Amino acid sequence: MDEVYTFSEAAKLHLTKNELGGKGYGLVEMTKIGLPVPPGIIITTRMCNKYFEEKKLWKSIKEKILIKMKEIERETGKKFGSGENTLLVSVRSGAPLSMPGMLDTVLNLGINDRIASSIAKRYGEKFAYDTYRRFLQLFGSIVLKVDKSLFDNVVEEEKKRENVDESGLSASALKRIVEKFKAIIKEKTGKEVEQDPYKQLFMAVAAIFDSWWNKRAIEYRRIYNIPDTMGTAVNIVSMVYGNLNERSGTGVAFTRDPSTGEKKIFAEVLMNAQGEDVVSGKRTPMPIEELKAKMPNVYNELVRTCDKLEKYFKDMQDIEFTIEDGKFYMLQTRNGKRSAQAALRIAIDMVNEGLINEKEALLRIEPEQLEMLLHKQVDKKLAGEPIATGLPASPGAAFGKVIFDIDKAIDAKKRGENVILVRNETTPDDIRGIAVSDGILTSKGGMTSHAAVVTRGMGKPCVVGSGINIYGNSFSSNNVVINEGDIITIDGSEGKVYKGSIPLIEPKLGGDIAKIMKWADKYRRLGIRANADTPEMVKKAIENGAEGIGLARTERMFNSKDRLELVRKMVLASSDEERRKYLEMIKPLQKNDFKEMFKLAAGKPITIRLIDMPLHEFLPKLEELIHEVDELRCEKKEDEAKEKEKIISKVMELKEDNPMMGQRGVRLGIIYTDIYSMQVEAILEAAIELAKEGIKVKPEIMISQVAIANELKRAKEIVMNTAESVFKRMHKRIEFKFGTMIETPRAALTGNELAKYADFFSFGTNDLTQATFAFSRDDVEAKFIPFYLENKILPSDPFAQLDASGVGMLIKLCADEGKQANKTLEVGVCGEHGGDPSSIEFFNSAKIDYVSMSPTRIPIARLAAARAAISGERKSTV
Ligand code: PEP
Ligand code: MG
Repeated sequence: MDEVYTFSEAAKLHLTKNELGGKGYGLVEMTKIGLPVPPGIIITTRMCNKYFEEKKLWKSIKEKILIKMKEIERETGKKFGSGENTLLVSVRSGAPLSMPGMLDTVLNLGINDRIASSIAKRYGEKFAYDTYRRFLQLFGSIVLKVDKSLFDNVVEEEKKRENVDESGLSASALKRIVEKFKAIIKEKTGKEVEQDPYKQLFMAVAAIFDSWWNKRAIEYRRIYNIPDTMGTAVNIVSMVYGNLNERSGTGVAFTRDPSTGEKKIFAEVLMNAQGEDVVSGKRTPMPIEELKAKMPNVYNELVRTCDKLEKYFKDMQDIEFTIEDGKFYMLQTRNGKRSAQAALRIAIDMVNEGLINEKEALLRIEPEQLEMLLHKQVDKKLAGEPIATGLPASPGAAFGKVIFDIDKAIDAKKRGENVILVRNETTPDDIRGIAVSDGILTSKGGMTSHAAVVTRGMGKPCVVGSGINIYGNSFSSNNVVINEGDIITIDGSEGKVYKGSIPLIEPKLGGDIAKIMKWADKYRRLGIRANADTPEMVKKAIENGAEGIGLARTERMFNSKDRLELVRKMVLASSDEERRKYLEMIKPLQKNDFKEMFKLAAGKPITIRLIDMPLHEFLPKLEELIHEVDELRCEKKEDEAKEKEKIISKVMELKEDNPMMGQRGVRLGIIYTDIYSMQVEAILEAAIELAKEGIKVKPEIMISQVAIANELKRAKEIVMNTAESVFKRMHKRIEFKFGTMIETPRAALTGNELAKYADFFSFGTNDLTQATFAFSRDDVEAKFIPFYLENKILPSDPFAQLDASGVGMLIKLCADEGKQANKTLEVGVCGEHGGDPSSIEFFNSAKIDYVSMSPTRIPIARLAAARAAISGERKSTV
């Protein structure tokens, strides 16, 4: 069936957003609740996919469009293609998921030479030729694929010639523009502009469908993971004219402030203009207060409409409206994009207003948004005077090298540099550059400009409308000149730009975040622990709400230079005796750290992993040693050179071709047993000393890299024997848990056997992913993963987002079998995936008990865990 409906028909059919696209859905819903939407037609997304199969508009769909156009003529009382009381339409795209500015729109379609001159007779030449030139520009660039800048140049010339802005162009200038546009189209396409309105209409519908495959839309879908199969709907909407006269205008509004979330309408209106003028940021809009003063009736209708929309959609809306000769029309509504701060504020306020409940509020806040709030702020005490001030378009702060060009920004990022992308204004073509930059600064544009909307969505700091003068590879502001490559700092929360790099500070969790965290903790099932190797990290973890430490990597406690030296000497020891000497020196350092950590954890469990030590990370580099020997020989220090050579031969002996699969973890621990013993002594002595002082401690001792139950059995004997001798020596016993990481596929496949020796399992999903895919975790990111993602060989990077269908299956199997074999077995995750929201969703459904992640990700994980529990609950009740 050809799915072409009028908005009023669609309103009765209960069609979904997937079928109608976001824009169409909004228009149909608004029609349903009686808001003033200009009559129109919708062609569903299914027809878009059919169009891709047919490769053209087929006969029956064209006939259906004609029939529906007749209904629009009846509803509006206007006639398409007629000189008298003519009906013009806009042809707009609308994908199911918002893709701002990515797809195309043609306005004022149906106009031609004859109709333009009769409009001129009725409404004046200025309006008629302004309408016509807008059509030619959009139709020319979108449908006929003529370079848009050719049209822009003509407009710029006329603006210069008359020394006016775009709305001030005279009728004769507009007429000249029309003629020049027609000539450009003729020259570039070899044909006159299509004069038949219906042919124009079919060409535009096809072009909108085709725009699904334009480069920037493909890029946007790739970045946001939007499936190519979704397609776009097409909306054919009868035109209302914001450019009719001075009592006309167009505007965009958010029903609440999208930056702060404050409950007040945030609107920008341009009088005597059409929609694209506001969105492009070319003209500076007037504030809403001015509309209130000038046209109180329109203002009141806007306020009533915003209220009605919020009550209906139960969310903050982002709307587009037009005023035609004093009459108010709604052209679009959708859930508004908002800053992270606003997302929290709005969700909390809407709970207080009784519009939504706590669970719904949690589902409204994306964990990634929360991350933005945890982002840095400029340290104001050290900031000094800003060199420029603009609008605070997207909160957060960043510093980096000033770069003006998208490709240069991408290259700089590849070199690992911080980048602030500086542009006059951004367009959807800039998306690649925005995506890699640390912050965005623009000279022009308002809070609803492209740069503002896109960066808010991405959570990147952005300052727009700063008024800086960009010329070539420099910009100037307040007599300060900044060249490409110079460092600046931008503060997207306050709209300020500073020269140089200003120290940034981490915000504390408070206010709104605390409330959301409280709600999240109420509904989440998964426990939250942190990966922390130092007392400072434990402190941060507990502050952020960790319920324990899920992974303390003991070898990482030796990252400072002096300590590392000791560990190296221990590793390179040529006899058991020598190794023990160094272990004795290491033990008090570890013990002190454990004591500090236990104290800070105040009775919360700490899972301490005994040495894992992929040797390659700890051995001195062979090339460096050889170089040092050469130098010593040059300096005639033969004895020292000989000593170094001994080290070289030890390093050669220990060097492994495949260190990640070499002698690390349990494979090291059950052979060099004194390392395990020293560590167990340090842990238990620290714990007992504190317990004697009345401080609660919950140690958990964990073994890594296990593949065989007998390895774990052997490790357990070493740990338990050492523990017994510590208890005897210190005249006190304490309880502790013993468990294993599951990070080899064989361990995952034999969970039932391992569970006999373990109180807990903790999935090391980093190594488990490495071993399951047989992808080296240290090498793949720079090599083939980008290719795999681009070419959709993999849906996402498996080291960032858990591979549910492969690694996930192993986890499920192991957790189930382990729990069956040992009813009290506790199961956690401590690989990087423990802090990734989409992986958390999987762990929640796999009945894992807790996840552990870096301390800074804890708030995100708490929220993600709550959202997973709530959506899981909803799915199971459907
Ligand atoms: C893991 O492999 O997931 C893990 C947590 O251990 P590491 O990253 O230290 O190898
Ligand atoms: Mg590991």
